[in-house]
Amino acid sequence: MSGLAALVVAPEAKIYDHGMRHPLRPLRVVLTWDLIAAYGLDRVPGVSQLGAEPADDDTLMLVHTRDFLDATREAGHGADGPWGRFGYGPGDNPIFDRMHEAGAIVAGASVEAARAVLTGDVAHAFNAAGGLHHAMPDRASGFCVYDDPAIAIAWMLQQGAERIAYVDVDVHHGDGPQAIFWNDPRVLTVSIHEYAPELGFFPGTGALSERGGPDAPGSAVNVPLAPGTSDDGWLGAFRAVVPPVVRAFSPDVLVTQLGCDTHASDPLAHLGLTTGAYRQAAVVLHELAHEAAAGRWVATGGGGYQWATVVPRAWTLYFAEMAGATLPDELPESWIERAEFELRAAVPATLSEPASHRSPADDEAPDVAAAVMRGWAEVDRAEQVTARPHEDEGGP
Ligand SMILES: [Zn+2]
Ligand SMILES: [Zn+2]
Repeated sequence: MSGLAALVVAPEAKIYDHGMRHPLRPLRVVLTWDLIAAYGLDRVPGVSQLGAEPADDDTLMLVHTRDFLDATREAGHGADGPWGRFGYGPGDNPIFDRMHEAGAIVAGASVEAARAVLTGDVAHAFNAAGGLHHAMPDRASGFCVYDDPAIAIAWMLQQGAERIAYVDVDVHHGDGPQAIFWNDPRVLTVSIHEYAPELGFFPGTGALSERGGPDAPGSAVNVPLAPGTSDDGWLGAFRAVVPPVVRAFSPDVLVTQLGCDTHASDPLAHLGLTTGAYRQAAVVLHELAHEAAAGRWVATGGGGYQWATVVPRAWTLYFAEMAGATLPDELPESWIERAEFELRAAVPATLSEPASHRSPADDEAPDVAAAVMRGWAEVDRAEQVTARPHEDEGGP
C-alpha cells in the first residue's frame, strides 16, 4: 500500500448544476475541496490527489439502461422528448445543460476512487462530488442522474471483487444501491436514515422489513429513525448495527455514502445531528474498514444542503480521519473569507459546535436498532436452515 488516502478532485464536476434555485449547489463540493486544501490536508505525507475522466457508456451501463443514457444525453443538449418517463422535468430533477456529461464525470470520479483503492494505490479514497444514491437503472430521482456509488460497486465486482459492503449515512434512504443490488448476495447495503412515510418524507422506502431479495436474504439492512433523532440516538443506533453487520459480511471493500443532510440545520430533513456525530461516525467507519475490509475504503459525498455552513466542515472531518490527521478546530481564515463571500452571510469559525439537544426520538432509537438486529439475526438463522439440505445433497 503506497498511500494512506486520496482525494479525487474533478473540477469539471462543477457542471453538475441544476440551477440557482435548486438546493443541490455545486459550490458545496468546491468549498469542501477548498477547506481540505486550506487546512493543508492535501499535503499530509501519504495523501495524494487524483483527477478523473468521465465514465464511458459501458461503465455507466453496468447499472443504467441504454435508453436512459440516450435520453439523458439528448435532454441535456436541448432536444425535446418524453423525458418525464425518465424522471426528468420540473421539481427535483429539472433538465439542465450537459446532464449526461455532468453525471458521467461524477461517476468517473467514484470509479477512480474505486480503482485507486482496489489496485492498492491507496487505502482510502474520497469523491466528495459523488454519492448520487437515488438514481435508478432507467430513471433519475432525488437530484441524482447517474448512481455513482452503484456504478463504482458494479465496476469493482467486474474487476474481480467478490463482496462489497455499502454503508449509507445520508438522511435519506439509500434506495438506488439497495434496489440495484437487491437480489445480489455479493453486495450488502446498509442505510441509516430518517423514516417518516406518513409525512411523505423522501423517498418513502427503507423500512426495517426490507432485507434483500429471494436470492440474497439479509443483504439489505435498514435503520429507519424517527424525525427529531439527534446525536445520541443516531450514534447509538449506528454503533449497534453497522459494525456487527459489516464485520459478519466480511467484505473485500467498504463503500460509504457520507451525506450530511442529517445536520440539525439542514433545510430538507428533520434529524438533529451536529459535526460531533460526523467526527465519531468517521472514526467508526475508519476502524471498520481496517478491521473488516483490509483497510479498503471508498467514500463518496452525498446530500447536505447547508452548502457553506455544514457540508465543507462535515466532509473535511471525514477526510481528515481517512488521512489520519488531527486538525486545529479553528477554520483557516482564508477559507472563512471565501465561504462568507459566496454565502453573503457568516459561517461558523470552528469544526466543532455545541452538541445537539436530546429529543424524545432519541429514546426510541435503541429500540429501532434492537429490532434491526433481531431481524438480521432471524434472516441469518433462516439462511442456515435452508442451506443445510444443500450440504447434505451429495451425502452417502
Ligand atoms: Zn439526502
Ligand atoms: Zn486508515
